[in-house]
Amino acid sequence: MENTPAINMTGFVGPAIMLLFALGFVWVGLVDRRQLNSALLAAACAFLSVGMTLQLLEWPAGPGPNVLFSGFFYTLAVLLASDGMLRRAGKRLSLLAGISLMIAIMAPLWYFSYVEPSLLMRIYVQNFGYGAILLINALRLRPTKGAGAADRVLFWVLLVFAIHFFPRTLFTTGPAIAHDGIAPDGSLFWQTLQLSLSVLGAMLALAVLATILTDMMEDLRRDRDRDGLTGILNRRGFEERANRLVNSRRRAAMSLIVCDLDHFKLLNDTHGHSAGDAALKVFGAMLLDTARSTDIVGRIGGEEFALLLPNTDLASARDMAERLRRNLAADDFPLTQKGIDLSASFGVAEKAPQDTLGTLFKRADGYLYEAKNDGRDRTVAREVSKAAPPPAEESQSGQTGSQTHNG
Ligand code: GH3
Ligand code: MG
Ligand code: MG
Repeated sequence: MENTPAINMTGFVGPAIMLLFALGFVWVGLVDRRQLNSALLAAACAFLSVGMTLQLLEWPAGPGPNVLFSGFFYTLAVLLASDGMLRRAGKRLSLLAGISLMIAIMAPLWYFSYVEPSLLMRIYVQNFGYGAILLINALRLRPTKGAGAADRVLFWVLLVFAIHFFPRTLFTTGPAIAHDGIAPDGSLFWQTLQLSLSVLGAMLALAVLATILTDMMEDLRRDRDRDGLTGILNRRGFEERANRLVNSRRRAAMSLIVCDLDHFKLLNDTHGHSAGDAALKVFGAMLLDTARSTDIVGRIGGEEFALLLPNTDLASARDMAERLRRNLAADDFPLTQKGIDLSASFGVAEKAPQDTLGTLFKRADGYLYEAKNDGRDRTVAREVSKAAPPPAEESQSGQTGSQTHNG
């Protein structure tokens, strides 16, 4: 970062690339405004570009001012990039730490520029300083157990980038000066090391950009699979996960509960659509609350819900449905106090080895239909062999409204 060759247009490739990265982060920030860290990363790339340009232009003139100016922008870039990367992981570099680190770099830079001028010491201060800051960052960003590929790539690139400052500096200042007997900036060796800095820096920026884009895609996928009203899975999200589970655990015990709120149209008509929405929210939250973390819970239609329960036999699934039904009818249920009586009907089926999600669903839906026909506010759970024959066509009108399930 120190001591550049005479102005040479190829040197501007580095700052130009960093400016492009800055634009990339700005673009990401505009597309997804939740990505606050992309603003920090954009600023980091821009300041890095400024620092490089000042050095290339040798402005302001004189080694002292030039080192201090470019050093300030480099340090700012390293600190902002650190904070940007940390924020993505829910951590941050505090303002106090940032200011302290800035002083810790700038004060010795000033000292070795004016009080006791030493090119070697300035190189050490900057490179070891940046290496140390980035190394601590990398360690704070150690991927956790469930981390995705993008997080792991980012961690390793950051770690290599941070560590490379140490051997790089020793190689540059040791053999290059001693053996070549020429100023470091003139040697091919030095230029190769500068190139390694640019290449690794660009790789780091790319890795960061990739993780942010991965985050955005993950957000989009989550939005696509979630029901906006209740926050639980929508039909698409439920079916995708449920299908995967059913197909991957052919022989394991598994049960499905489907349920439908009773006389919901009446509730909407008497208390208004917003009361209906509130009821859906409360019921969704109740399902989530009752379910285990491995259960798949979805709102698969207007007021129809489904729960796929892995490692659960019919009796346990029926118990769970009954628990839900009684909770809904209980006096302390939030909507009861507002004079809204809410009940639901449940159909429960256990998966047979040959079942697909579609066939399992059909059975559970049939039982739900029975529960509705028998007077609502009840649970029908049956084993496959004891399944009642499908109901006659003419008695099906206006019941569950859920005859179209598929897997
Ligand atoms: P049953 O006991 O047989 O299930 O009768 P029901 O009235 O609950 O069933 P029906 O299928 O006739 O009516 C369902 C109603 O659910 C009709 C629809 O307006 C309402 N609904 C669907 N989605 C929403 C929603 O997001 N919010 C509200 N408030 N109502 C909804
Ligand atoms: Mg209903
Ligand atoms: Mg319905």
